[in-house]
Amino acid sequence: MPPKSPAPLDLLNLELDLPVHAREVQASVRAFVEHKFQPRVTAHFRAGTFPLELVPELGRLGVFGANLTGYGCAGVDNLTYGLLMAELEAGDSGLRSFASVQGALCMYPILTFGSEAQRQRWLPALAQGSAIGCFGLTEPNHGSDPGALAASAVRRGGGYVLSGEKLWITNGTLADVAVVWAKLDGEIRGFLVPRGTRGFSAREIEGKLSLRASPTAALTLDDVELPESAILPGAKGLRAPLACLTQARYGIAWGVTGALRACLGCARDYALGRQQFGRPLAAFQLVQQKLAEVFSDLTLSQLLCHRLAALKDAGQLTPVQVSLAKRHNVAAALRGARTCRDILGANGITDAYPVMRHLVNLETVLTYEGTHDIHTLVLGEALTGIPAYSS
Ligand code: FAD
Repeated sequence: MPPKSPAPLDLLNLELDLPVHAREVQASVRAFVEHKFQPRVTAHFRAGTFPLELVPELGRLGVFGANLTGYGCAGVDNLTYGLLMAELEAGDSGLRSFASVQGALCMYPILTFGSEAQRQRWLPALAQGSAIGCFGLTEPNHGSDPGALAASAVRRGGGYVLSGEKLWITNGTLADVAVVWAKLDGEIRGFLVPRGTRGFSAREIEGKLSLRASPTAALTLDDVELPESAILPGAKGLRAPLACLTQARYGIAWGVTGALRACLGCARDYALGRQQFGRPLAAFQLVQQKLAEVFSDLTLSQLLCHRLAALKDAGQLTPVQVSLAKRHNVAAALRGARTCRDILGANGITDAYPVMRHLVNLETVLTYEGTHDIHTLVLGEALTGIPAYSS
């Protein structure tokens, strides 16, 4: 019997049932990634650079802060936003990270906690991509425990003076504005620090073997003088940066389904085309088992995202639900990318195929925005009522 044609990677017809607008946005971002981003990504990944020339077009596509409303943002629903994140990450986790940081970690806090003047100053430019933002929470000695951060703000004259170090800051060297979290009178507050402010500098972190097509920086704040208008008036306490991270993690849960879909599509095509022992790899049961595991993980991850979108649009999404999805989907994507790399054999370790790039990128995604372990502890606390983060 001749083999049937391979099924689309959408077993539950999730794409078939999309509303027209969501489908249109998905198609336009998919086309952008396929035609504009993919031809460049290998060179940028090798060089450790981001294709900055594409930022204005990303702005025109409306991807920056797409699920925010007003100030030039696209104002799409959370399903459309999630689909868009998946399409970006099908290109590279660095591309999705760029959009996540810009939208969820820079625009969202300005919109949610900022003054009207701050919104007017930054949001339209960030939405268009004529300005780039970053989010400085992590420090050399405080990663998983941001509540203990050491950066300080003190009042001086009519404004503030910021001191401290931030580490692992995506887009830190590119940013026109940094959202910096520091303690003022012992309380975590957010500050907008424009590029070029005296005492504020960003240094690229060298030697990354993951997320190479995404600049990552160390920020130094050496007695940085800021006016009173630099503080985000509504951001008080750890709950403010955590609210931003919940937004970003929602996008990550969706995004990694795109990376996994790209890996599975590549591995399936490869297995159908490559012959060993006189048959396509895809004809061996062991290979089919590997493909089936990844297909199953992909489908379940997508289903989880669709439920999250409905909850978010209804205003009912909780941080614990987002932790569940971030933890599950990133682990599934990392596991699946490894399996797909294996199916590609020796070819799988080269950058002639996208799988190894996705695999090493996903190592970062497992760590940032709350490590896998930290989300495990969030779920553990939700289940038992007992926080187990520290002894
Ligand atoms: P640590 O907190 O030192 O953790 C190390 C290990 O110990 C992990 O396995 C962790 O799960 C485990 N661990 C820690 N505490 C516990 C515990 N209580 N119980 C059990 N296990 C525990 N940060 C920003 O602020 N802005 C950014 O834009 C940004 N971009 C990033 C980009 C990249 C490429 C990377 C790699 C990181 C980025 N980060 C950013 C930082 C990221 O959020 C942190 O790396 C992350 O929070 C983990 O902190 P850490 O690396 O210090 O690890």
